[in-house]
Amino acid sequence: MAPVPSLPSPHIVLFPFMSKGHTIPVLHLSRLLLHRGATVTVFTTPANRPFISNYLSDTDISIIDLPYPENVDGIPPGIESTDKLPSMSLFVPFASATELMQPHFEEALKTLPRVAFMITDGFLGWTLDSATKFNIPRLVYYGMNNFAMAVSRDVSESRLLQKTESDTESFAVPHFPWIKLTRNDFSPPFTDREPSSPHFEWVMQGAIATTKSHGLVVNSFYELEPLYLDYWNREFQPKAWCVGPLCLSDPVRPPIKPTSKWMEWLDQKLSQGSSVLYVAFGSQAEISEEQFEEIKIGLEKSGVNFLWVVRMKEPDEAFEERVKDRGIVVREWVDQRGILEHKAVKGFLSHCGWNSVIESICAKVPILAWPFMAEQPLNARMVVEEIKVGLRVETCDGTVRGFVKWEGLEKTVRELMEGEMGKVVRKRVDEVGEKAVKAVEEGGSSWGTVNELIDELHAGN
Ligand code: UDP
Ligand code: UDP
Repeated sequence: MAPVPSLPSPHIVLFPFMSKGHTIPVLHLSRLLLHRGATVTVFTTPANRPFISNYLSDTDISIIDLPYPENVDGIPPGIESTDKLPSMSLFVPFASATELMQPHFEEALKTLPRVAFMITDGFLGWTLDSATKFNIPRLVYYGMNNFAMAVSRDVSESRLLQKTESDTESFAVPHFPWIKLTRNDFSPPFTDREPSSPHFEWVMQGAIATTKSHGLVVNSFYELEPLYLDYWNREFQPKAWCVGPLCLSDPVRPPIKPTSKWMEWLDQKLSQGSSVLYVAFGSQAEISEEQFEEIKIGLEKSGVNFLWVVRMKEPDEAFEERVKDRGIVVREWVDQRGILEHKAVKGFLSHCGWNSVIESICAKVPILAWPFMAEQPLNARMVVEEIKVGLRVETCDGTVRGFVKWEGLEKTVRELMEGEMGKVVRKRVDEVGEKAVKAVEEGGSSWGTVNELIDELHAGN
């Protein structure tokens, strides 16, 4: 039989939002698509270009940078990434200003070879308008899992957050009544009593653009949350395509900096037969001084070995000296995936940003969940109550957002690293991590979904 003539390789445009948590998975995706025979162009801004080009330096992925607008209210000049913002209260002006990039985006699209489809961030809702003008299907990257998407949608449609009296009153999620939540599990603007703030309006605009888009690309895998993916695809638009874990799907690891002092330190701990708790709260979480002090005491008293990545806090030399035989504090950008995959690392005290959660699952490291903002409390519920790959840090008043005293931290750190419950979740994360690996392998669920996505959009365009 004569071979079926194959279509030329599809050209796919990616436009990640300018924050680390939204950019990193999309860069993994770019490598995955490249590996599947696509040609890829990534859009960004000048200040973010070095990070991206460094990450993609061994590929022929094109990078186009569009100027981020000047003189945006409250945004210091030169800041083009949310992790550089002086405060997250500037998030909405920062993100809405990207709309001014639309003419530049469209100028650039005109110069590109035919685009089969684009995947742009949910925070860049205006890209739908450009996509429509150029007759290019747009898919949305949100950075959320299906559990958080389905549960948030269900709760917001029933207006439960407006109906509950207090932040701590528990209610059942209508279609998933075994899930008990509180207002504390959600963040502004969804918790606003009168949902008409600029933040809410902006979120709604983005959500409408998403609904009108061709699909959602989700950094998760079917076997992790079949119920929630099926629910979403039965009840809501647009279709969710689960193609992750993206951190596993770049077949070629990007170049990693030469061995750092903390990787050497981990090697040393491993050679001594010791295990290490990795402590990191992502690129955005703002932690009060008071809370920071309790973390130090809790880690010191727990007696466990730890590697703690700290952002924007002054070094405490006395503390670092006291714990130096078993704790290391790092103030630089680290290769988190490399750390989690290190054999010495046996636990992750995490803010439960979705990337951190999925990276931890892939590395088969159980989580001690301590959510701070955005959908992190929902991710923590998923980690602890649904997939059962972690424990929750103990707050002093037992609420989701309560202050964590050193005693609660010490106790739960020990439980994760040395206790019986720690053993149970460690075994479980091994099993779930295995499923994650299978999902992205040839023949796995995510592998198949990527093929379907390319076939559907490439052939139809
Ligand atoms: N970055 C950005 N906006 C800024 C400053 C930096 O988007 O205002 C990006 C840029 O891509 C940079 C990355 O953030 O490469 C990391 O910046 P950082 O200064 O933390 O790291 P370094 O410069 O040490 O690589
Ligand atoms: N990350 C990293 N090195 C750091 C800090 C963060 O590689 O020093 C990566 C981490 O592996 C993850 C992303 O940055 O891929 C952070 O995303 P996440 O969703 O966990 O949290 P966010 O920063 O969005 O709160």
